[in-house]
Amino acid sequence: MKKHCEIIEDLLPLYVDQVTNTETKMFVTDHLTECERCRQIKAELLKNKSYAVNMMQPSPTEPSPYELAFVKHIQKSRRWSGASFILLIFLFSLICWFLV
Ligand SMILES: [Zn+2]
Repeated sequence: MKKHCEIIEDLLPLYVDQVTNTETKMFVTDHLTECERCRQIKAELLKNKSYAVNMMQPSPTEPSPYELAFVKHIQKSRRWSGASFILLIFLFSLICWFLV
């Protein structure tokens, strides 16, 4: 049984991620019904997996750093386009003033 536990321990991350084939899944499931130690390892993996998934999802109330950087970029380019429009009008007025 100890030898099976080591095999199951290797397979459990795949089993938890549901990427095992049907036979492997049945083998692990059968073993889990009779082995408390491996059930505990599986429970620990599931706990860590849900923690990792929660860590990867950004909080809906806080904008991500990418969103903040994008908003700053837009604000900066708006500022520059406004300033260059004013400068263009000023230069156009100067040219007109010299021509007249
Ligand atoms: Zn076991």
